[in-house]
This record gives sequence, C-alpha cells and structure tokens, in this order.
Amino acid sequence: MAGEKPTPIFRSEADLSRLPASDRIRYRLVGAGHRYHANDNIARFIEAGEMDELKAEVEAKMQEVLRALVIDTESDHNTNDTAKRVAKMFLTEVFRGRYVKMPPLTEFPNAERLNELMIVGPVKVRSACSHHLCPILGRVWIGVLPNEHSNLIGLSKYARIADWIMTRPQIQEEAVIMLADELQDRVKPDGLAIVMEADHFCMQWRGVKDNDSAMTNSVMRGAFLKDATLRREFLSLLSKKE
Ligand SMILES: [Zn+2]
Repeated sequence: MAGEKPTPIFRSEADLSRLPASDRIRYRLVGAGHRYHANDNIARFIEAGEMDELKAEVEAKMQEVLRALVIDTESDHNTNDTAKRVAKMFLTEVFRGRYVKMPPLTEFPNAERLNELMIVGPVKVRSACSHHLCPILGRVWIGVLPNEHSNLIGLSKYARIADWIMTRPQIQEEAVIMLADELQDRVKPDGLAIVMEADHFCMQWRGVKDNDSAMTNSVMRGAFLKDATLRREFLSLLSKKE
C-alpha cells in the first residue's frame, strides 16, 4: 500500500541510541548470535563511551538493591557511595575481563627451537564465582612443551591472560578450560598443562562454612595426556615451587 512503511526487522542506530547501553549491547550480541554468559568476553560489542553508560546503569540498579535491603544510604555515611563504588568495581576491576579486549601479546617464533618443558607459576589469580559472586582466590601453574612451530610469549604474558580470563564471574572448571583454549590457540605447543588451586569464599563465608574449601582443577593436553613421565615431571616441579 502506498505510503505504508515495511515493518522494520532491524533497529536503526537512532532507535538503538534511545535504549539503555546494556540493551544496545545485548541487541548486538543477540544479532550476532554471540553467547554472553557471565564468563564470556563481550568487548567487541561495546562501543566508545558505553562503559560509562553501563557504570551509571549498574550504579542505579545497585542503589535499588541497597534500597531493597532496607539500608538507609542517605543517612548512613558508610553506604552513601556504595552503589557507585560497587558499579565501578564490577565493571573496571573484578569483572573487567568481560569488557576489555585481550591484552596485546607479542608472539615470537621459537627461533632457538626450545623443546623443553617450561613451567610458569604460581601465578596468583583472583575471580568470583558465578553462583554467588563471592571471591575466588587462587594460584595457577602452566606447563608448556613447545615445538619448533610454537609461538612463544613472554612469561609475564601468561599472568596477563590468566588475569583477563579470571576477572569475570567464573566457574573454576570452565576457567581452566578457557585458559587452556586461549593458550593453545596462541602458543600452539605440543603439550599444555594447567593446574589451578583456589579458595572459594562462598564455601567459607556462607553455606557450610567449610574452611577447607580449596579446589584443584587441571587440564592436560597433547603430550601431557599421552606421556605419563612428562605429566609426572610437571606435577613434581609444581610441588617444589610452592
Ligand atoms: Zn559460589
């Protein structure tokens, strides 16, 4: 019919700009069919300036949470700025690894053809569980068996990748696999081993109040799976590095 506009399937940028930033970002994620679970990185769907908008949104919602907890944030000087602090902490500190791109890495070819077991760690890791958003504090060890085609990365870069993956609401079993996938992709070693040992505060602070709440997870790939001697060598070097 003349003059009738077709039903828009996609929202225009003008329509999108009227939505809260979180809706805009979600719209792009859904459109791209990209998963956005708690431990997924969504950096490439966030545009300039939107992190500040997200911070304001989270602050406003956090203020509502405090209100629902019947906390008088107006007279209580301790909680005046709590909503603001928590929003900043979530978005720029403890869950930062969801919102920023992977730290840049310089990879260099394995020119010296190193093929000896290399161990990095213990690297301190800090995270929060996806179930309760309670802290997880732990250590990770990474074993790499390079081959002549491996791309080596500087030792400090292992810690930066681990931090990028851990500064998201995480599940330890998934975190070690994510870390292994990322390193496998970058370094392309013959073998990769990761051991993570962490304290889960949701076990100590709430629930069973179990003080012995350390959990250990490991991932073994390639040569570490096939070669029991190599695996033993890695694990024995870990215990010496405590
Ligand atoms: Zn938990």
